[in-house]
Amino acid sequence: MKQITVIGAGTMGNGIAHVFAQHGYEVMLADLSEERLAKALETIGKNLGRQQAKGLLTEEEVAATLGRIRTGTSLQDGASQADLVVEAATENAVLKKEIFRELDALCPAHTILATNTSSISITEIAAVTKRPGQVIGMHFMNPVPVMKLVEVIRGYSTTDAVTETVVALSRKLGKTPTEVNDYPGFIANRILMPMINEAVESLFQGIAGVAEIDTVMKLGMGHPMGPLQLADFIGLDVCLSILEVMHQGFRNPKYAPCPLLVKMVTAGKLGVKSGEGFYDYSESRKAENVSAQFL
Ligand code: NAD
Repeated sequence: MKQITVIGAGTMGNGIAHVFAQHGYEVMLADLSEERLAKALETIGKNLGRQQAKGLLTEEEVAATLGRIRTGTSLQDGASQADLVVEAATENAVLKKEIFRELDALCPAHTILATNTSSISITEIAAVTKRPGQVIGMHFMNPVPVMKLVEVIRGYSTTDAVTETVVALSRKLGKTPTEVNDYPGFIANRILMPMINEAVESLFQGIAGVAEIDTVMKLGMGHPMGPLQLADFIGLDVCLSILEVMHQGFRNPKYAPCPLLVKMVTAGKLGVKSGEGFYDYSESRKAENVSAQFL
């Protein structure tokens, strides 16, 4: 494993590229948008700077890490040399299947195709390729450089050898891989999203305000961040997509997204990435609303 291609340079893609490059892998970070790529490089630079300030990395290590990241706007840019692809594009099944179909045609036979999807079926994505045994879920958590978990999801056809390779690789990145089977939402979001949805529902019903709901869960349950702030960090559009996948996948109304969540996404209030969600992230309000360690 030397060459890693990361598809999508959004909230997750920049963190995934950062962590692989920090651990010595050559990374090609691909996104349709030049602007997203520039923003991703800026974020990686800032986060590496923070690690340096904390004494976790030297100046030389920061420079070497940045030197291992290339960027491109086409899948073709890195796919033909990739040993592993980690797809972290928008949470949309049609889009992901298109990307995997293309990657399957472009990548060498040995390449493992992983997806960072939060909820979409690995088996369904694998089925559009001619290498379903080499397709796997590699679900990093946000923020990637900080969070230790990688949820490793085996599709119906994923081989033992590919699972073992991805588990070993996750350990090399300093992460703790945890194997789960392929059902909507896997484990992380199967448990997290109903909690977030219930928090939004409580707000929708007027039972308490944003700060009160988050305070109850922080101080009462020991969560480092309340569910509404966490939803802002994940992205409200991502939360909505995950709930829809679980709702359709299990055909169970308990996963139906709260109408307030749907309305906020429709209005473009996506959380941190759009500057406003349950909290205001405009420059003037950032300090009072956001726990700085995560930005
Ligand atoms: P995001 O909206 O921040 O970024 C998605 C990026 O994908 C955008 O920059 C977009 O331009 C790019 N993109 C879209 N189509 C593309 C294509 N065809 N080729 C290349 N790039 C393309 O989304 P995100 O929050 O980073 O989520 C990415 C994936 O990671 C999703 O599957 C999501 O479910 C998953 N995930 C998200 C979180 C989270 O906390 N946000 C956590 C774990 C997993």
